[in-house]
Amino acid sequence: MRRGRGKRKAELTEVPPASRRRTEEEEAIENARRRAAPSVREFKYNKKRVRLVSQGSELKDDARCILYWMCRDQRVQDNWAFLYAQRLALKQELPLHVCFCLVPKFLEATIRHYRFMLRGLQEVAQECAELNISFHLLLGYAKDVLPTFVAEHGVGGLVTDFSPLRLPRQWVEDVRERLPEDVPFAQVDAHNIVPCWVASPKQEYSARTIRGKIHAQLPEFLTEFPPVVRHPHPPSCPAQPIAWEACYSSLQVDHTVKEVEWATPGTAAGMAVLKSFIAERLKSFSTHRNDPNKAALSNLSPWLHFGQVSTQRAILEVQKHRRNYKDSVDAFVEEAVVRRELAENFCYYNENYDSVQGAYDWAQTTLKLHAKDKRPYLYSLQELEQGTTHDPLWNAAQLQMVWEGKMHGFLRMYWAKKILEWTRSPEEALQFAIYLNDRYELDGRDPNGYVGELQDGGRGWEALAVTAKAAVGALQAAPARSALRPHPTCSLGACEQGGELTLVSLCWQAACGPSAAFTTRAGRSGPSLARSAT
Ligand SMILES: Cc1cc2nc3c(=O)[nH]c(=O)nc-3n(C[C@H](O)[C@H](O)[C@H](O)COP(=O)(O)OP(=O)(O)OC[C@H]3O[C@@H](n4cnc5c(N)ncnc54)[C@H](O)[C@@H]3O)c2cc1C
Repeated sequence: MRRGRGKRKAELTEVPPASRRRTEEEEAIENARRRAAPSVREFKYNKKRVRLVSQGSELKDDARCILYWMCRDQRVQDNWAFLYAQRLALKQELPLHVCFCLVPKFLEATIRHYRFMLRGLQEVAQECAELNISFHLLLGYAKDVLPTFVAEHGVGGLVTDFSPLRLPRQWVEDVRERLPEDVPFAQVDAHNIVPCWVASPKQEYSARTIRGKIHAQLPEFLTEFPPVVRHPHPPSCPAQPIAWEACYSSLQVDHTVKEVEWATPGTAAGMAVLKSFIAERLKSFSTHRNDPNKAALSNLSPWLHFGQVSTQRAILEVQKHRRNYKDSVDAFVEEAVVRRELAENFCYYNENYDSVQGAYDWAQTTLKLHAKDKRPYLYSLQELEQGTTHDPLWNAAQLQMVWEGKMHGFLRMYWAKKILEWTRSPEEALQFAIYLNDRYELDGRDPNGYVGELQDGGRGWEALAVTAKAAVGALQAAPARSALRPHPTCSLGACEQGGELTLVSLCWQAACGPSAAFTTRAGRSGPSLARSAT
């Protein structure tokens, strides 16, 4: 986007003092940003991250501000969309506004997700205020509230971020249709390291086919970020104070799914999880990430999903430890970059990403082949939701998701495949899996989830036995000496230990203590199947 008239040089801007004391790691990251450039104006911004949504690209002469419509990437720093909007505003010497459109409902999201999101946005609003950028929380769908905001504030250029999912894409299209023709509208992929439309121009078949393409482009895109700086051009009208608690009354979501305790919302908390991952769990990521008994995962998915932490930042930080933990760093890049960006590619290029018709041909063939197989167990959605199947391992995983909002990645595969086995058809299985995943997982309603459910279900019946065996094998591995069998005092996988009710799907009678399945991670850095009775 550019403006017809000549440009003046913006004043030198600087990073503001943070309202709370920064940690050592945050200081180091901030210094790295400043080394990249004093501000995004001086930074060599890679325009391949940006695409024009509107017809026109010329900023009008009487523009009064630039607006970043924040959707998916709910953070200030390490956000290529925010940076692009500030770059435009700095170049044109205009104030910068940020807005978020709070929709009353989104797919199966509940108050658990909305609270996580809104508390993260409170941090964004605070950071914006410190940077002389006004943050507006608009209640309603963008198509209804954004055009009015644009007209009232004299917005000269609009920037938004990117999601490959159907609904957010429709929101962008709706706004494009309603924007005045002389307001250029640009979209930036701030979620992926290699922008989705650059990584590949078509739907990729598997990790094997996209891996080389991603790795070939990483040197170009996996760069340090410049800082979002204190904006030198103050907004002409300050943002209205936000009545955060009152926002909740505008929501039409289920309030019975409670917030979780283990995950504190917001960028600062997400960065603390990244720090603890690097310090405590990264070393065993390559060897133990498929073992639900071990704390080896990053646990970052809720913060990555809401864009409170940038995956690019996580990779930059993790890569600093390549010398010591090469295999783990490589494995993390494979999950967080290759697998994640493959899921983005799938949803972007496949409009049936959440239905059986969208599955790869081989998966559809396997599903058809086994459509008439006899099902030894059939469960209703309610039985699945309440975790009352005959399988204690599955029930424990399901209940962990219901209570804690996160299931271990390895168990998610087992969980999805069992739903396929216990329902009337692949269509019903997928419908149930998406409903449960989107309703309870903090990281639900994400491309990773749709791909996980579709492809893992689609891997077919043959895989069921293998995954089940492997999941049980992982649980058995710890006390190899004892046979794996349900503990007699356990009911529905619950087991009393030391005054604490602990969820154990299966435990070892002789060792129903610290080594019992899933009981050892209570109170540590991430969710566990352990849970206190209260
Ligand atoms: C049935 C099923 C449902 C799933 N639902 C979701 C979901 O709703 N949301 C979600 O983010 N992930 C989902 N996944 C993918 C994966 O299980 C989670 O991303 C992972 O368990 C999150 O935990 P973590 O952050 O500790 O992962 P880590 O292992 O530490 O990985 C770091 C990051 O890499 C990415 N990642 C890891 N594994 C995968 C994968 N297999 N595919 C794509 N990206 C991956 C995620 O962004 C993750 O946060 C699902 C997988 C399956 C099989």
